[in-house]
Amino acid sequence: MTAQFRIALAGNPNSGKTTLFNALTGSRQHVGNYPGVTVEKKEGVYRLENTTIDIVDLPGTYSLTAYSEEEVVARDFLIFEKPQVIVNIIDAANLERNLYLTTQFLELGIPVVIALNMIDAARDRGIEIKEDRLAEYLGVPVVPIIARTGFGTRKLMEETVRQAAKKKEWKPKSISYGEDIDSTLLVLEEKIIASNFLTDTYPGRWVAIKYLESDQQIISRGRKENAALSAELEKEVEAVSRHLLETMETYPEAMVADHRYGYIKGILQKGVISHKYDKDRLYTSDRIDKVLTNRFLGPLFMGLVLFGLYTFTFNYSELPVTWLESLFGQLSLLADHLLPDGQVKSLVISGIIDGVGGVLGFVPLIMFMFFGIAILEDSGYLARVAFMLDRIFRIFGLNGSSVMAYILSGGIAGGCAVPGVMATRTLRSPKERMATLLTAPFMNCGAKLPVLALFIGAFFSENKAQYMFFFTILSWTVALVLAKLLRVTVLRGESTPFVLELPPYRFPTLKGLIIHTWEKTWQYIKKAGTVILGISIIIWAMMTYPGLPAKDKERFALQRQEIEAAYPAQSVAGGNMAVSEQEVAERARLLAEINRAEAGMALRYSMAGRIGIALEKVSFLAGFDWRTNIALIGGVAAKEVILSTLGTAYSLGGDQEGNVSLGQVLAADPDWNPVKALSVLLFISYYAPCFVTVICITREAGSWKWGAFSMIFNTVFAFLLAILVYQLGSLFY
Ligand code: GDP
Ligand code: MG
Repeated sequence: MTAQFRIALAGNPNSGKTTLFNALTGSRQHVGNYPGVTVEKKEGVYRLENTTIDIVDLPGTYSLTAYSEEEVVARDFLIFEKPQVIVNIIDAANLERNLYLTTQFLELGIPVVIALNMIDAARDRGIEIKEDRLAEYLGVPVVPIIARTGFGTRKLMEETVRQAAKKKEWKPKSISYGEDIDSTLLVLEEKIIASNFLTDTYPGRWVAIKYLESDQQIISRGRKENAALSAELEKEVEAVSRHLLETMETYPEAMVADHRYGYIKGILQKGVISHKYDKDRLYTSDRIDKVLTNRFLGPLFMGLVLFGLYTFTFNYSELPVTWLESLFGQLSLLADHLLPDGQVKSLVISGIIDGVGGVLGFVPLIMFMFFGIAILEDSGYLARVAFMLDRIFRIFGLNGSSVMAYILSGGIAGGCAVPGVMATRTLRSPKERMATLLTAPFMNCGAKLPVLALFIGAFFSENKAQYMFFFTILSWTVALVLAKLLRVTVLRGESTPFVLELPPYRFPTLKGLIIHTWEKTWQYIKKAGTVILGISIIIWAMMTYPGLPAKDKERFALQRQEIEAAYPAQSVAGGNMAVSEQEVAERARLLAEINRAEAGMALRYSMAGRIGIALEKVSFLAGFDWRTNIALIGGVAAKEVILSTLGTAYSLGGDQEGNVSLGQVLAADPDWNPVKALSVLLFISYYAPCFVTVICITREAGSWKWGAFSMIFNTVFAFLLAILVYQLGSLFY
């Protein structure tokens, strides 16, 4: 029986393509032209036992963009003629540059076999390549050859036939191009796939990338197929281009290229290549990496950077945070003066100012944090962090790409689980992906951060940065341990090799830092002004209605009258009676006490109060009182709501008066102590993800069951942890 396959031979100019082609086909070749262009087309035949292999020699190119005729010809041939396999010939002595083309084949999804050529020349130059590692990380077979002598060529063709016989589907590989481009790509891809735009011919993500790269050939085909959609895509690209130019002073094409090289660098860093003689091959980025990702110095430096970030954030933001808090305090006083007593006043002060103000008060802290993170991200250091943590992640059954998902979710503090969960799309193994997306919400997202800051500021103010550092490390530990637990139980399975993009270091521009900081800070403010405001008002209503029954109100009114009668105020006395200052003060104190008692009773009597009190039957185990319970339920809507709800609860309860921040109220409250604060903090860190994250998990996991799982699993875990800490802590405190 004979089989017939058609394969393409592709590679950079001077990689030895012609030499290999001649070695394989000898005289069985003929030369023609690709239709319509002057590019030469060579075809030949190779026989391996009963198999006939038709080999097409593609023009040598460095890339698959549409910059040159050769590139267009090579690309069109692959896409329209769909050879079963592409044999990608690579000059082993120039691995990094040659692999650039390879990444583009992988992104297209075509099955590839790599012919690692000129290993003789490479060896002479002191370069040793571990082809099995290269194969593992690229996910394609690699066969070392010496085209000039014919060494390895038979093995190459055997492997090629083996791959061709598998008749594999095209599986495009996703490479991350950095947050800005990745998020645009997702938007483009969704639109492209929804409208079936060019997808009969090309993979959806690939079309999106080509639009980003301003590929004229694809764009003009796109315009012909669907002008409106094409215009829409171009507009998206324009927006991200403008943004990149402003923040990074670069273009999408350059960014994409940087990350492709970053991807290659990520592979080469994994012990794929070793230089016997250290020549002048170390470029600046590599030199920096020698130190910063060094096995011993790297983690040390990473710890210092992280700790420095917290010290910077907490120490320098303290003053502006107090300014803002006192601003909201003044605002409350002002509203108190201007508005008549009643429901509206209560809504404005307790619902809006104390609720939303509690969240907005932390804007400076958020801003400082994002500024620090912007430096790490824009300089390229964040990618190195992920790189270094890869080894540790493996131990826990995860993948290095999980590191990025964790960091986005707030692994260094101040992210969001939603993009974190979405970022898991770059993980190829479904089980690693599930384990990552289920544990990413354990990180300290930007919404939990102010809650942490509040409690740490109130109860552990001596060592803020240390505590923040501790909570960060703890979050990673918890996430990893639980991921491991999932990976040995419900998500058992193999782990896959992985490669992380290591883009070159860049000097961040001040403008870029400011824009990135402001974008994220603005999102926080916007959320506080919209979603949080809405939820605050709902929760305020739940904490206000139903009001106290008439007979209780009367009782309090009566008590007030008694005080007023016993301590007449000056004005009532008609100017005759002298009233001592002490008496005035005593009168005010007694009246305030009654008001507080009434407010406290009303809050307990309210809908939310009743729920909170009912939950105390269980929550007392972890030390949570009813007010905390209300806040924690609100926190499922969005974690910032924990702050705003506590603010409203203490305000409505009459405990927060005038110019006092929530932190000061909690610190002074005899019901609170550091053990309880710690137990609450741990619960907040790990209980059910917020509503939006749950929806996102459901969508990414493809089943509401995983969304429900994350809510129940996380809450049960967090509660057990809180009980443990509270009960143990109470023994000693
Ligand atoms: P093409 O541009 O990709 O077609 O490359 P060629 O086949 O023309 O080869 C470029 C140069 O590399 C020629 O001088 C070849 O003799 C040389 N060459 C090709 N294969 C090998 C190899 O395996 N080892 C060494 N040392 N030289 C090679
Ligand atoms: Mg040639």
